[in-house]
Amino acid sequence: MLDIEGSGLTSKRVRLKMVDRLRTQGITDERVLSVMAQIPRHIFVQEAFASRAYDDTALPLGLGQTISQPFVVARMTSLLLEGRQSLGKVLEIGTGCGYQAAVLAPLSEVVYSVERIDEMLQLAREHLFWLKEPRVRLKHADGTLGMPEVAPFDSILVAAATHDIPPALLKQLAMGGRLIIPMVMDDDGTQYLKRVDYTSKGFEEKLLEEVRFVPLLSGTQ
Ligand code: SAH
Repeated sequence: MLDIEGSGLTSKRVRLKMVDRLRTQGITDERVLSVMAQIPRHIFVQEAFASRAYDDTALPLGLGQTISQPFVVARMTSLLLEGRQSLGKVLEIGTGCGYQAAVLAPLSEVVYSVERIDEMLQLAREHLFWLKEPRVRLKHADGTLGMPEVAPFDSILVAAATHDIPPALLKQLAMGGRLIIPMVMDDDGTQYLKRVDYTSKGFEEKLLEEVRFVPLLSGTQ
């Protein structure tokens, strides 16, 4: 039986502990912390891992994919929000289980989230249905192409790592918009987050801390 409220290791108390830990790790945006205190992360992970849903760890989602650790979700969301009132119209590439999309949604007008693995997308659809989150729209497609049919976006979050930013994503960024993407930078495959702001002066890029994501692959399955 699905237990949205949670109990024991999936209870609200454990979720609030996760939020306290995020604070000590340097997450300061109260809007992000408050959303993460609300969203039941345990419904997004496989049942066998529900008791570890609020640990600060990435967990397997099946199909070779992982749900990002809470700190990374909080950090990417905070970076997108920094200095802004709202995330506006959002594009997420790499829906995975749908948790990141669920965190983005209350801070956005609408979230379009694209996933290349159909089976993964069906799981995300189920999770978001349980959550009754109407602001998330899911699409099975190759996210490197973005979603030209609903572009431009105020915020774009890419949840998979790439050597080069897909040109379609830069093209679909609204003026004043921001993109966060994990970039594979070094020969040894080390990844760093990159933030790109589209301003009247053009694209302004900033390289941030090291991260670890699954690769951004083209095509669908
Ligand atoms: N944000 C997710 C975690 C994503 S894991 C969450 O909260 O769970 C990265 C996901 O990106 C995987 O599901 C993978 O299948 C997907 N992915 C990789 N390349 C992609 C592409 N080109 N388009 C869409 N999704 C892609």
